[in-house]
Amino acid sequence: MQIVHSLNDLRSALRPFNQPAFVPTMGNLHAGHLALMAQAQPLGDVRVASIFVNRLQFGLGEDFESYPRTLAGDCQALEANGCDIVFAPTEAELYPQAQTYSVQPPKELAAILEGHFRPGFFTGVATVVTKLLNCVFSGAKDGGFAIFGEKDFQQLLVIRHMVAQMALPIQVVPGAIVRDANGLALSSRNGYLSDSQRTHAASLQATLQHMAQQVKSSSSLGDIPNIEQQAMNTMRSNGWSPDYMAVCNRHNLLSPAAGDHELIVVGAAKLGDTRLIDNLQFNRQ
Ligand code: AMP
Repeated sequence: MQIVHSLNDLRSALRPFNQPAFVPTMGNLHAGHLALMAQAQPLGDVRVASIFVNRLQFGLGEDFESYPRTLAGDCQALEANGCDIVFAPTEAELYPQAQTYSVQPPKELAAILEGHFRPGFFTGVATVVTKLLNCVFSGAKDGGFAIFGEKDFQQLLVIRHMVAQMALPIQVVPGAIVRDANGLALSSRNGYLSDSQRTHAASLQATLQHMAQQVKSSSSLGDIPNIEQQAMNTMRSNGWSPDYMAVCNRHNLLSPAAGDHELIVVGAAKLGDTRLIDNLQFNRQ
């Protein structure tokens, strides 16, 4: 496995290949990231991961400075999981000038849910992902694959639409959420939790499951606002500060309309100082 820090070295390492399979990450890798790497295995002709903590997607007061940076351990894990090239640029390498050009996803998708509570987040994500895709795929004769986790479901939709609308020669591949045995979705931010918080944090997924169950067994979509409100209350009484607990159409993340079957419940909440997100896809007949 090669570890490269500059764009020139990345392009040299990629020169013999035609079709990368790419897993972008912010590092501090866990089994969720490594499952994406495993999914990349049969795709394309070279496996690439990036590790870059992207300042543009952190808001004021968020954890950019303290975000865990564990490059050596991450590289060992990637090598053991079939990665061929790790691209770990410095900020000066990826943003040699102030990044004053940006990719602005449409507000219908990017100003709701996560985007409402983290203004600018999806612009930061879309901008860095565009840049990383250009770094990895600009010499790829046969396009390639980019694997994104369903854990960040809204991000996956933003990227999927961006890739389609911008005619990027890339197939976006979704990766299923990897969880602890108690149901807690793996996240680099779980490292901020104490042992007892980590046990308690499983109640986020449990509440989402309960919401999905209620929506499935209710006779009317008109019950959804109540189901959401009850879930917010449950979360509060369990010691969380929830930002949202919402039932959505899973293709556009809007409130479900009559005839919508493919749904998702999404939630974001703080436990102590740690903000976690999770979701659950389900169908309603
Ligand atoms: P991050 O390093 O948090 O930016 O995540 C990098 C990629 O890993 C994104 O596509 C995430 O959606 C994905 N990811 C993070 N956690 C999980 C998980 N528990 N299961 C599956 N994919 C995940």
